[in-house]
Amino acid sequence: MTKPSASLAPIPVAVQQSRTVEQLVTGQATSDGAGVKLTRVLMPALQQRLDPFLMLDAFGSDRPDDYIAGFPDHPHRGFETVTYMISGRMRHRDSAGHEGLLENGGVQWMTAGRGVIHSEIPEQEQGVMEGFQLWLNLPASDKMCAPWYRDFKADELPAFRTAAGVDAVLIAGSSHGIQGGVARAATQPLYLDLHLPAGSSFEQDLPADHNAFVYVYRGGVIIGGRDVPAGRMAVLANPPRADGVRIVADAEARCLLIAGRPLREPIVQYGPFVMNTRAQIGEAMQDFQAGRLA
Ligand code: MN
Repeated sequence: MTKPSASLAPIPVAVQQSRTVEQLVTGQATSDGAGVKLTRVLMPALQQRLDPFLMLDAFGSDRPDDYIAGFPDHPHRGFETVTYMISGRMRHRDSAGHEGLLENGGVQWMTAGRGVIHSEIPEQEQGVMEGFQLWLNLPASDKMCAPWYRDFKADELPAFRTAAGVDAVLIAGSSHGIQGGVARAATQPLYLDLHLPAGSSFEQDLPADHNAFVYVYRGGVIIGGRDVPAGRMAVLANPPRADGVRIVADAEARCLLIAGRPLREPIVQYGPFVMNTRAQIGEAMQDFQAGRLA
């Protein structure tokens, strides 16, 4: 993986009372697109609990058959997709005229808004492809906004190393006084990728009402005294007195820490469309079928 080159000086954070783990979630093996094998970590049953986040998929394989077909043309409306490629190469094209190559540590942030049709196709025939796709909801007032898109190469993402030696890549939000690649007023998303060396810990302040989770993808961590092994998502509790989270690693570990301000609006999902009412889903399907979505 290309190492982020930014060397920003973090301001120390001291969490007085850490959130605890409310629930450990095991992802579900599934396939999507033209047969890409993946693990659905955040499923629809958790959309209310983890509002404003709608989905997290983890994909990772060194078997080309698991990923080679990619995700041919498909539509989206009403939310944002954030794809973080740890390893591998994927070409993105969409009906708004955007095109980009996502690779080794890069991020693609796409706001579908009123609609795009896009494809996500691997540009590799062998080797490891590993990464994550997060779906972030849009507030009702922005669901029909114009589509937006940005690619970040790995060295364009803000990154820092804490005094404890934790390497952090900041995809969205702010942490330790540093601003991430993307900010959103309504949902205030925080998206951190953390590399914790053995014996280290990482502290992050979080507003008590923001929903938050940690997904561990290497090693294991301890949060509020509870073990969170690799391949598990820890849904963090929201006690009013907790001012953040402390993540402890006895052995080397890597995890995502994701948090955001809940929208508290109705969520109606039908496949790639996420709106507030069934009538709006009907409009999305009609617009897609009539070619008005792109
Ligand atoms: Mn898509």
